[in-house]
Amino acid sequence: FAPWADASAKPYISFENITKKFGDFIAVDNLSLEIFEREFFALLGASGCGKSTLLRMLAGFEAPTSGRILLDGQDLAGIPPYRRPVNMMFQSYALFPHMSVEHNIAFGLKQDGMPKADIERRVDEMLKLVKLEQFAKRKPHQLSGGQRQRVALARSVAKRPKVLLLDEPLGALDKKLREETQFELVDLQHDLGLTFIVVTHDQEEAMTMADRIAILDKGEVVQVATPAEIYEAPGSRFVADFVGTVNLIEGELKERENGVARIEDGQGLTILTEDAGDAAAGDRVWFAIRPEKLKVSAAEPDRTDSNAAEGEIYDIAYLGDMTVFHIRLDDGRIVKASTMNSARVSQELLTWHDRAWISFRPDAGVVLTR
Ligand code: ATP
Repeated sequence: FAPWADASAKPYISFENITKKFGDFIAVDNLSLEIFEREFFALLGASGCGKSTLLRMLAGFEAPTSGRILLDGQDLAGIPPYRRPVNMMFQSYALFPHMSVEHNIAFGLKQDGMPKADIERRVDEMLKLVKLEQFAKRKPHQLSGGQRQRVALARSVAKRPKVLLLDEPLGALDKKLREETQFELVDLQHDLGLTFIVVTHDQEEAMTMADRIAILDKGEVVQVATPAEIYEAPGSRFVADFVGTVNLIEGELKERENGVARIEDGQGLTILTEDAGDAAAGDRVWFAIRPEKLKVSAAEPDRTDSNAAEGEIYDIAYLGDMTVFHIRLDDGRIVKASTMNSARVSQELLTWHDRAWISFRPDAGVVLTR
């Protein structure tokens, strides 16, 4: 499933040069974005970057100051929220507390004047979908947080919208439940064949669920790509730093030859890298490398790693699945390196203040020019 890679595929939702001003304040700044049918799309950004405003404009709760939003080729301007094939899932605390689960789910269908027998059938179907058949008669306060969340979800898809908008849908859940629910949401989205657009400031959540992610900053889209592309090939320092942890080393690209670029930081560090993007000799660049791409060893590494530097272990965090090292290189720079604990860690091979080497292959990092 990758319609965005197919040049002939038509987007289902298009934001075209959307600007939204609140008074003088520009919340969304000439933003364009395309989302495909059945895509699980995430809008990811820090608080205040405009992601909720974007969702609210698609739902019809706000109107753009300028620009157009098209859904399946139709301009949505002037179409009220209830006539758009779009529904917004609100957090579970928006359930009606005095109504049972089934009545909560039926509420919108009744309002639409659906015949009683059809409503019953639809509610049963929804209860089955979110695995809450036995809880139909309960009130929201008699459910766990995760179950309430599923009711909210069932209620929001009961009307069979074409597009479901989810604004921080899992914010109220604890970490473990949030992780489980992320997978459930993806399964549900597959089963229903709907387009989901989720707003989140949680990069792990976006990475886990989304087919593609748009990273927003100050009302603008800075990158749209799959989770793996965003992580492995961030387009800028902002994205590299926003998603995951990264080591950034500033330097000058000295030369590109035979597919290898040489970067020097002016303080004695030389980096050889294969992926130098569109950087040219003489450019100021940032070499970005993720902690798990750095190897840590007590002894000097062998030749397969063309890049190596020595330093001292300055901090260690044992996280169960992995161990994170902060290493102060001999030039004073601190780098973060992590190792997977694929075998049981029965003794500490490296500890505080040990001398250690870091090394990495020439294809382990990327060169950024902005
Ligand atoms: P959060 O994660 O905190 O919800 P967000 O990225 O969803 O943030 P938005 O809610 O879209 O951000 O808001 C974007 C900017 O627009 C913020 O600076 C916000 O203060 C401002 N804003 C949003 N709605 C209004 C409004 N009705 N009037 C004035 N300013 C607004």
